[in-house]
Order: sequence, then structure tokens, then C-alpha cells
Amino acid sequence: MRTLATPRAIRAAVRRRRADGERIGFVPTMGALHDGHRSLLRRARGECDCLVASIFVNPLQFGPNEDYRRYPRPARADAAILRAEGVDLLYRPAVATLYPEGHETRVGLPRLGSVLEGRFRAGHFDGVATVVAKLLCAVEPDRLYLGQKDAQQAAVLRRMTRDLDFGVRVVVCPTARERDGLALSSRNAYLTREQRIWAPAIYAALKEAGHLVRQGSRPAHRAAERLLARRLAGGPGRLDYASVVDPETLGPPRARGDLLIAVAYRLPQMRLIDNLIVRRGGER
Ligand code: AMP
Repeated sequence: MRTLATPRAIRAAVRRRRADGERIGFVPTMGALHDGHRSLLRRARGECDCLVASIFVNPLQFGPNEDYRRYPRPARADAAILRAEGVDLLYRPAVATLYPEGHETRVGLPRLGSVLEGRFRAGHFDGVATVVAKLLCAVEPDRLYLGQKDAQQAAVLRRMTRDLDFGVRVVVCPTARERDGLALSSRNAYLTREQRIWAPAIYAALKEAGHLVRQGSRPAHRAAERLLARRLAGGPGRLDYASVVDPETLGPPRARGDLLIAVAYRLPQMRLIDNLIVRRGGER
């Protein structure tokens, strides 16, 4: 695995691989890698000739009171995981490299970025879209691998890559979970013992809501949202939202096609987000 730290260096390395006819797969991350990241890397490894990963804790996507400074950065353990998963090229730029003095261009999605999570994390998705646009410009991959865990991020980036003609295929991989159902996340390390014991309640409630949604139409969506609110009442924090939406527009569900049930739950020191795609006939 070669590690490169500038857009110029990663672009040159990837272009050499593409000149040999290789298909380039890209998995962007913020590090603190777990089995969720591994599942993306494995999928990409299986589908592409050259596997590129990035590690960059992006200051632009953290709010002023969020965990940018304390976000875990286990560089050596991460490098070992990337090597074990067969990553060819690791792009690990410094903050000053991506955002030098005077940098001001932003990529913004005024609607998709302001609903659901956007109501609680102003500017977050513009930060995500901006950094991923920069990463895509440097790496120029054929395929971009994202996790369903961050359903709104996937919707935002799918829209952005289309709107800006990146010509990259977006592949969204299923959410990897602990055995008890808790969605894997680098931030799960912040959970207290009691919160960790309670946390699987979110996925359990989502599955219950999924059955309800699959069986019925509009009134069932409202009923599912109410069910989630009831099931998660009395936990160690409070529900920020539980919404049944269209997975692409994040707006009202259409008469046909997949549905997204998205939940965010606020604990004193962090937020837990999770979701379920209802396939109207199956789920993932
Ligand atoms: P992050 O390092 O949190 O920015 O995540 C990097 C990528 O891994 C994103 O596309 C996430 O959606 C994805 N990811 C994070 N957690 C999971 C998970 N539990 N299952 C699948 N993908 C995940």
C-alpha cells in the first residue's frame, strides 16, 4: 500500500493505474475504521482492479460544538486494516493541504442538505459535499463506495455526483451491525455502558416500523413514525426525528418504490443515527 498526501501525487498514481486499463474503486473515510468500513473495502476490492481509500477528518463538516478535536485518529491501526483489506493507494492529506489559507469554494445542496440531519447539523452536508468533490477531483475513481448507514449522505452525494457530472458510479453498501443490531460507527466508542446496552432498541424499533410501513400506505407511515417515538421514549436521551421518506429526494414517499425510515436519537454526548430501507417486498 502506498500512502500519498497531495492531490497531485494521488492523481498521478491513479492515472498510471488507469492507463493500464484498471477500474478504480474509491472508499472515502474519516478513519477509526471498523467492520462497516471493511465491508465497503471488500465490496470495492471485489469489483475493482485498483482500490483507493482516503482518511481525512474533515473540519468543514463538524459544527462548532461537535467532536472534531476528540474524533478518534488511530493512524497505525487504520493503516493495518487498510493493508489487510488489500488497499493499493491510501490518500491521507493534511488539513492545510485540502484547505490552504484563502480556500473558500463550497459545494452546497440547499434542500437535500437541510432536511433530517441538516436541521440539527447546519452546514454539515455542505462540508461533506465539498470535501468529497475535492477527493473525487483528485482520485478520479470509476466507482465511489458509500455506506447505507449514512443514508442522507448517500442521497446528497448521489445528487452531487450527478449534478456536477463526475461520471462516477455510486455504490451504496448495506449497514454493518453488531450482533445485537446496533449499527457500527466510529462514534460508538463514546457510548457509556448503560447507553450501549440500550442502543440496540433503535434497530429493533426500526424493524418493527418497517413491518408497519411495508403493509400499508400513507397513514401507515405516520403510524410508523409514532411507533418509533413510543418505542424510544423512556430511553437515556431523546428522539430528534423519526421520518418515513423517499430515499433519493428525502421528501414525501412516492406511491411506489423504496422507502427510507430514518431515525436520529440524541444522547447527552453524541447522536445515534440509523435507518432502514423498506423495499416493499423486502428490506436491507
Ligand atoms: P466515516 O468514516 O464515518 O466518514 O464513514 C466512511 C464510510 O463508511 C461512509 O460511506 C459511511 O456511510 C460508511 N459506514 C460507516 N459506518 C458504516 C456501517 N456501519 N455500515 C456500512 N457502512 C458504514
